[in-house]
Amino acid sequence: MKRFWKKTAFFTIIALIVFSLVASSGTKNKILSQDIRNPENCILAGSLNKQKQLNQLCTSTLNHINAPTPQTTSIPIPTPNFNLTNKERFLATITDKLFTIPQPGTYEYILLRAYGAVFVNHNPEVQLPSKVVFGDEKETKDFQSTLSMGKVNGTNNCYLQKAAADALNQAKAQINIPLKSGYGDSDCTRTFATNLRFWRKYANNKTLARVQQGQETKILGTVAPPGASQHLWGLAIDLRVASEAQRQALNQNGWFRTVEYDIPHWTYIGHPLDQLDEFGFENKVIGGISYWLTPL
Ligand SMILES: [Zn+2]
Repeated sequence: MKRFWKKTAFFTIIALIVFSLVASSGTKNKILSQDIRNPENCILAGSLNKQKQLNQLCTSTLNHINAPTPQTTSIPIPTPNFNLTNKERFLATITDKLFTIPQPGTYEYILLRAYGAVFVNHNPEVQLPSKVVFGDEKETKDFQSTLSMGKVNGTNNCYLQKAAADALNQAKAQINIPLKSGYGDSDCTRTFATNLRFWRKYANNKTLARVQQGQETKILGTVAPPGASQHLWGLAIDLRVASEAQRQALNQNGWFRTVEYDIPHWTYIGHPLDQLDEFGFENKVIGGISYWLTPL
């Protein structure tokens, strides 16, 4: 009898130890996986260029943030998470678009802030560059050679990515919207050389150094640094827009002013106005002109 109780006590103790070990490791795993799944951590890791180091759980969380909303439009759109700040929501939206998310304070981050609005585009027909600045003509041409282009109606040689041209043509079917200069190779998709020529017209290497150091930003609303223009991506156009009806027609078809102080410059975002705050865009009105700026 005594042996029986000894045996029972021994097995009870073993069982308790095993149970507490399993319970504690379970708790640990739970906290760890919640930690990894935390969207802010994923975004932070992404913004610190550690995206590749993120494990599957984190990737699936980001995929969840970007998960398409079924049957709203033919183009999948991300589900917004309004618990996040504008900046976090914007970064969560674009994190799978860029090869690496630039770190705050870098030249690339400054360019992303100024010109990164296009990266919320989720139309699978729209090609986005894998980085915010092309190094030379070859890199630009390599990217442009992957694009499917469409002509803007009523122009001689104004070409944009087909989805962007189609959307613009829909706006133009509603109301006349002329090009700024009338020259397609300036107003529409540009070569690296044209981007560089425009830059040299307004700025120089010293300006570029000041932009890279974050000491000069206003020039970005006049001209894009070499290799950084949205016009290289076939997703921007310079227009003469004077009326509210023209602006509305453009907005209804996914075109917005996204570059502060660049009044003639329009960007194809591909989403309607009422979706822009879902991606974290911030509306700023300067001199009666309404801009939709990245929240970076
Ligand atoms: Zn422009």
